[in-house]
Parts: sequence; C-alpha cells; structure tokens
Amino acid sequence: MARGKKRDLLQVVMSDFNEAADLLHLDANIRVRLSHPRRIIIVSCPINKDDGTVESFEGYRVQYNIARGPAKGGIRFHPEVDLDETIALAALMTWKCAVVNIPYGGAKGGVQVDPHKLSMTEIENLTRRYTWEISPMIGPEKDIPAPDMNTSAKHMAWVMDTYSIIKGYSVPGVVTGKPISIGGSEGRQEATGRGVVFSIIDAAQELGIDLSTQTAVVQGFGNVGSVAAKLLAKTGCKIIAVSDENGGIYSSKGLDIENVSAYVAEHEYLKGYPGADEISNAELLALDCDILIPAALGGQITKENAADVKASMIVEGANGPLTNEADKILNDKKVFIIPDILANAGGVVVSYFEWVQDIQAFFWHEKEINDKLRVIMRNAYHSVRNIALEKKVTNRQAALMLGIGRVAECARVRGLRP
Ligand code: GLU
Repeated sequence: MARGKKRDLLQVVMSDFNEAADLLHLDANIRVRLSHPRRIIIVSCPINKDDGTVESFEGYRVQYNIARGPAKGGIRFHPEVDLDETIALAALMTWKCAVVNIPYGGAKGGVQVDPHKLSMTEIENLTRRYTWEISPMIGPEKDIPAPDMNTSAKHMAWVMDTYSIIKGYSVPGVVTGKPISIGGSEGRQEATGRGVVFSIIDAAQELGIDLSTQTAVVQGFGNVGSVAAKLLAKTGCKIIAVSDENGGIYSSKGLDIENVSAYVAEHEYLKGYPGADEISNAELLALDCDILIPAALGGQITKENAADVKASMIVEGANGPLTNEADKILNDKKVFIIPDILANAGGVVVSYFEWVQDIQAFFWHEKEINDKLRVIMRNAYHSVRNIALEKKVTNRQAALMLGIGRVAECARVRGLRP
C-alpha cells in the first residue's frame, strides 16, 4: 500500500459495514456494538540486532469481535502496518469467519517493520518478543494467530514455541499455519489459493463459463497468488501474467506456472524469467483478460485505474485490494466481483481444521481436508449469491450482509452484559 493511503482501509471497511448494516436494517444498538473493536493491545518490541545495537518495533493485536468464538486472524510484518489498518483487517476477519460459518470471532496482529531489512535471527527475535508481549491476550480458547503478509509457517513455529515456553508445556492450538511436524495441518499452506480457485469454479459454473476458454492475470506471487495461479492453470484457464513487488511477466501464449514457481524458488523474484515479457504492476492490472486476481497488497485498484481494468471477473485474493470508488466503478461496469471475505476465506477455514485437529490431537489426511474445504467454500459461495440475487445487491454487500448478520444475531441473543 502506498504511503498516505494507509488510513483508507479502515474507512473502506467501516463504510462497507455501515452500508451493509443499512441494508440489513440492523438494530441501532447492535450496530453500535459491532462498530468498535473489542480489545486492542499495542506493544513495543525491542530486539537485539546482529550488530550489537537494540532496535524497537511497534506491534499490535486487535480482537475486533468474539461473539461467535475465539478471536482469529493473522500476524502481518510490513512497514505500513499501523493501528487503523490492523483494526480494519480484524473487522474483515470477523465478517470472513462468519461468512464461512466457522465458530470464530475476528482478530489481526502486526508489527510495523520491513522484514527485508532484518536478518533471519533478528526476525526470530522480533517474532518471539512480539509473541511474548501479546501472550496475555492469545491462547487456544482466546485468540489464535496465523500467518499473513511476510509471515509463514516458520514464524508460527516461533510463536508456538514462545507461548509454550511461557506455559511450560506444548500448546499447538495457540497458532495455526504451523509446520506439520508440530501440529500444523495438511493442506493449510495451499488453502487460501485453493479456496480462491474453488470460488472461481463455483462462479464459472453459475455463469456458464468454460474455464478452459478463459485467460487470467494474477497480481502477487506469494502464498496466495502463486497457489491460485497453479491450481487455476489446472482447470485449463490460461494464466497470461503474474507479478510480484518488483513487477510482472506476461506471455500471450500463457505461462507455465510450475516453471515460473521453480524460477522464483531459485531467484526469489520473477524478474528475468526467460520466455516472457516484463510488465509493470500498473500495466498488469489493465491487461486484456477474463479473470483478474489481485492477491498482493490492499488498495491496488482505485478510482484512478479502475476504468482501465478489462477483466469481467475480479477475485480478491488479497484483503481489501479495491477502494470503495473502484468497487463502484467496476460494479457499474458489471464486473463480477468475488469479495475478499469470501474469495480468500479458504486459509482461515483450514486454520480452523488445524485448530480442531490440535485440540483433539487427532490428525486428518489431506484429501479429507480439501474435501471439507470444498463443501464450506461452495456453501458460502451459494449463500452469498442467493442474497445478492434475492436482495439485488452486489456480491460484496451480500457477503457483508451474511457475515455481519450472523455476528449481529450472536450479539442479540447473548445480550449486553455487564
Ligand atoms: N491471514 C489470513 C487471512 O487474512 C489467514 C488467517 C487465519 O488463518 O487465521 O485470512
């Protein structure tokens, strides 16, 4: 997200919330209760650097709502992380968990840091210190972190280990997205990208689209974008362009995604990939294609570039990739948008499976996990589309109405005490 834009996400999320609350004719008292984050902790994380100095980073954990169950959401390491963004992302997690009907509230955490400027030892020190500082707030019954931007299974192992040291015994259920050897789940790493593709398949089936005749463009080649590209290519859809933070690659003939992934595994970035043209991220968003998957940062499609988008379907792999203005422009153009809280919910669904397996100390096979994810994603897709068609609202409004409506019902029946 570009500097100066970072407040935007909270505005987008709150204005979307208010619009959905209006459409739901939400009781005014319930609306007040759902408009505010429940708990916030702000921490300083001083760490020993490799050069002998100490540097301190600010971190956050926001539990937006816990009416439906423990708080749930990732930990993000990024220079643009701040309190507003973390609140916005925690609210999105709340609605997302409710859309896919898993028994969680919503949370998010993050540290304002550019991890590319730190060594692996420094990142470990930071992850462990941050975990230590937020440890009173997390736990398998309270709040369960997971990976997000710039964090992965490796970081989750450090979270699990640090929390377990505090407790004096192993607590695998405190965090999801862990390595499989310490209680992680089969299928978790690919789950977000897999869920993105499941929602595209459901949309194609509904709209009568043959995916083998389609072209797709993926912005972002991290854990979400690269897996979505790989699995979408398996449907016969031609992936003509992908990008990372340094720019993109394009081939009208279609990219061999397995090959591209092997190149990135060796060279870290897409730049220099042979047999494709280099393009910028701005050019990539405006490419002539059928399906566009923004799976990188928030706030990528704005009122400035929305009119350039030529895709007829946008599937939000990232959280909040469209601004409100862009969303309106694209809906007016009749672009079929599958919103983040539906499209990228596969990750938290398999996080839920991981947590259930950890608590029961009984582990499932990958096929069982992918099959269960398939059922949840299909049900969520159709629940959202039924609302969209019945109430004549956009898919985003429908998803928010479903998610917010479910959280509101919990708030209503539980009452306001003390
Ligand atoms: N960070 C991911 C998200 O935004 C996953 C969260 C989780 O698994 O708890 O959905």
